[in-house]
Amino acid sequence: MCRHCQSFSATEMRIAPLDVRSSELQRPGVSCGRVDPIRTCLGCRTRSEPALLVRIAAQGGQAVVDEGRRLPGRGAWVHPTQQCAERAIRAIPRALRQHVDTSPIARWAQDGLGQSPDRRNERPMDN
Ligand SMILES: [Zn+2]
Repeated sequence: MCRHCQSFSATEMRIAPLDVRSSELQRPGVSCGRVDPIRTCLGCRTRSEPALLVRIAAQGGQAVVDEGRRLPGRGAWVHPTQQCAERAIRAIPRALRQHVDTSPIARWAQDGLGQSPDRRNERPMDN
């Protein structure tokens, strides 16, 4: 028995149909999250680079400015302008998919944005 010849029998090689269409099935931008870094401002609905936007996230039941962009969970993105921030406030709970107190963002918008909103960002009460 010549094993060398038999190992190349065509029937063994073609068990699976070579219907190579998998590349067409890939959904763009979903696979690794780095494909499309563009975010939409919650206030004006304009798409921007994340560098131009401020991340808002929930912390201790409040919506806070996530300056380090490190807070876990969903984030909302907004231009650091008073107009966008004020418009975004109402949409924040929906964007974060939870009920949050948006007064820190309202204060941030009124206070003059970009001026270290961190100064009153003390530890949230977690009783
Ligand atoms: Zn905006």
